[in-house]
Amino acid sequence: MKVSQTIKLARKNVSAARKQGKTIGLVPTMGALHRGHISLIEAAKKKCDYVVVSIFVNPTQFGPSEDFGKYPRPLEEDLKMCKKAGADLVFNPSVEEMYPEKNITWVNVEKITENLCGRSRPRHFRGVTTVCTKLFNIVAPDMAFFGQKDAQQAIVIKRMVADLNMPLKIIVCPTVREQSGLALSSRNKYLSEQEREDAAYIYKSLQKCKEMIDSGGRNTETLINEMRNILQQKKSIKIEYISIVDEKTLENIDYIQDKALAAVAVRIGSTRLIDNFPIDITR
Ligand code: AMP
Repeated sequence: MKVSQTIKLARKNVSAARKQGKTIGLVPTMGALHRGHISLIEAAKKKCDYVVVSIFVNPTQFGPSEDFGKYPRPLEEDLKMCKKAGADLVFNPSVEEMYPEKNITWVNVEKITENLCGRSRPRHFRGVTTVCTKLFNIVAPDMAFFGQKDAQQAIVIKRMVADLNMPLKIIVCPTVREQSGLALSSRNKYLSEQEREDAAYIYKSLQKCKEMIDSGGRNTETLINEMRNILQQKKSIKIEYISIVDEKTLENIDYIQDKALAAVAVRIGSTRLIDNFPIDITR
C-alpha cells in the first residue's frame, strides 16, 4: 500500500495503475476509520482493481463553532486499517496541499442542501461538494463509494455528478451498526458509556418508524410523533430534527407514497449524531 501526501504523487500512482488497464475506486473519508469505512473499502475492492482511500479532515465543511480542531486524527491506526482492508493507495494531504490559497471557487448544489442537516449547517454541503470535486479531479476514479449513513450527502453528491456530467459512478453502501443498532461514526468516540447506550435510541426510533410503515403507517406526522416519543425517553438526547422527506427533493412530505427517507439528527452532550433509513413502499 502506498501513501501519498501530495496531489502530484497521488496522480502519479493512479495514472500508473490506469496505464495497466486498472479501474479506479475512490473512498473519501475524514479518517478515524471504523468498520463503516472498511465496508466501503471492501465494496470498492469488489468492483474496482485499484482502490484509493482519501483521509482528509476538510476544514471547509465545518462551521466556525464545530469540531474541526478536535476531530480525531489517529493516522497510524487508520493506515494499518487501510492496509488490512486491501487499499492500494492512501491519499492523505495537508490542508495547505488541498487549499494552498483561501478558496474562492465553490461547487454548490442548491435546494436539496437546504433541509435536514443543511438547516443547522448552512455551508456544510458546499464544503463537501467542493472537496469531493477536488478529490474526483485529483484521483479521476471510475467509481466513488459513500455510506447510506450520510444519506443527504450521498444524494447531494449523486446530484452534483449528474448535473455536472462528472465521469464517474457513485455507489452508496449500507450503514454499518453496532450491536445496539447505533450507526458507527467517528464522532461516537466523543460519547461516554452512558451516552453511547442512550444513543441506541436513535436506531430504536427509526426501527419503530419502519415497523409502523411496514404495517401500513403512511401519515408522517403520526410516524414522527412516535419517533419523538421514543427519543424523549432519554433526557440526554436533544432532538435537532426528525424528518420524513421525498427521496429526490428532500422536502418534507405529509404522506408516504412510494420512496422516501426517514432521517434523524440529535445532540447528546456536545456530540451531534445523525441516522436514517430509506423507505420504499413500492417493494
Ligand atoms: P466520514 O469519514 O465520516 O466523512 O465518512 C466517510 C464515508 O464513510 C462517508 O461516505 C460516510 O457516509 C461513510 N460512513 C460513515 N459511517 C458509516 C457507517 N456506519 N456505515 C457505512 N458508511 C459509513
